Amino acid sequence: MSSSQARQFQTPRGTRDLLPDDYAIHQHILDHAREQARLAGFGFIEPPTFEQAELFARGVGEGTDIVEKEMYIFDDRGGDRLALRPEGTASVCRAYLQHGMANLGQPVKLAYHLPIFRYERPQAGRFRQHTQFGVEAIGVHDAALDAEVIDLGWRIAETLGLTDLKILLNSIGDVEDRRAYVPMLKEHFEPHLERLAPDDQSRWDRAPMRLLDSKDERTRPFQTDAPVITDHLRPESAAYYDAVKSHLEALGIPYEERPTLVRGLDYYTHTVFEIVPAQADGSQVTVLAGGRYDGLIEQIGGPPTPGIGFGMGIERMAHQLREQGLAPDGDSATDVLIATLGEGAEIAATQIAGDLRRRGIAATLAFGGRSLKAQLRQADRSGARFAVIAGARDLTEGRVTIRDLRTAEQRQVALDDVVGELAGEFTDGAYTPPQD
Ligand code: ATP
Ligand code: MG
Repeated sequence: MSSSQARQFQTPRGTRDLLPDDYAIHQHILDHAREQARLAGFGFIEPPTFEQAELFARGVGEGTDIVEKEMYIFDDRGGDRLALRPEGTASVCRAYLQHGMANLGQPVKLAYHLPIFRYERPQAGRFRQHTQFGVEAIGVHDAALDAEVIDLGWRIAETLGLTDLKILLNSIGDVEDRRAYVPMLKEHFEPHLERLAPDDQSRWDRAPMRLLDSKDERTRPFQTDAPVITDHLRPESAAYYDAVKSHLEALGIPYEERPTLVRGLDYYTHTVFEIVPAQADGSQVTVLAGGRYDGLIEQIGGPPTPGIGFGMGIERMAHQLREQGLAPDGDSATDVLIATLGEGAEIAATQIAGDLRRRGIAATLAFGGRSLKAQLRQADRSGARFAVIAGARDLTEGRVTIRDLRTAEQRQVALDDVVGELAGEFTDGAYTPPQD
């Protein structure tokens, strides 16, 4: 390529631009998520986009795919080893410790909306940068809290109009439950080790429970008769799981027990859950996933502290809304477009636009000095409800024209009245101008 030839830049592989229509859907989802979280007593937090890499290595777990293969990790100019956040929970738990939140009333309930970075193989519903809305409730080990967190996830989906979803639920016990169970599980897979998918072969030793939810066709046949942990929980762990289920039933939240659901992060204990489309069987479709992580805070250097949370993939939620025809119509960017004609008209138009904006009405000029016809065509295409035609000659007589873009009806109004007239048309505008 010759140096004079400009290079065409593209988004890095696995990333994408959120264009105005996508943005409108994301905001719509976030509006509902934030409101439901607020109603459930969650405050909001935003940790930095990068953290010490060690936080995730210890928090998420050295043997996990996220830490082993997917982290965007770099040394900064001062030699610190940092990572772009590959998930939200470890950061929020770090903040809980750093700011002494153990001294607050427990549980501490925090919600967030964050970009997440993972070096994954890009495919439908799987990006290298995605966005999660998540919540964490830290400091309490109580089945009612587990149910409340699951309820919140379900409620977000429900208020968005998504009814074609289901909750998958499991308990994966705690370290002690697994001490007895994992050897049984390894024993089950051992004779078949060489026939498992290569990735799963290496999981056999470092993360054997992940073999249970492997989606690889080579591994799947051997999952059928594998022992499941729910058959081997200690009585207190089984009782906890039963209590979670009773709470969900009392709340009228439907769930499906899925004994092979284990989740991919090391820190989970007891309750794990996912929300998936009702018909789903694949892996790129989970819209929301979470669970209890009673060991995590200790792993990152704090005192033993229980917690539970979930992360919801906004892109996957947006996809579901589109699929089901539930995406909101993109709002048009402007309510009023002001067309100008002749010398000096743009100054008056700029003033009208400013006055309209102060009344909470979105207004813009057509710009560019084109013909009136071209400007009105632009107005039609813009989705605006009205055009104001400000012609130099009319202006000297103190008049402009208002054109209703739905009916093409036009009327002349006094320049001093145009803002008031248009404000009257947008009666539902909840906007009240600031008093000074
Ligand atoms: P998956 O099984 O799909 O890989 P995960 O177990 O890695 O998901 P979590 O780490 O629990 O997912 O993240 C919570 C949610 O974030 C997921 O349920 C999903 O909706 C979304 N998500 C995770 N990874 C991606 C990705 N690479 N691209 C888009 N969304 C994602
Ligand atoms: Mg994943």
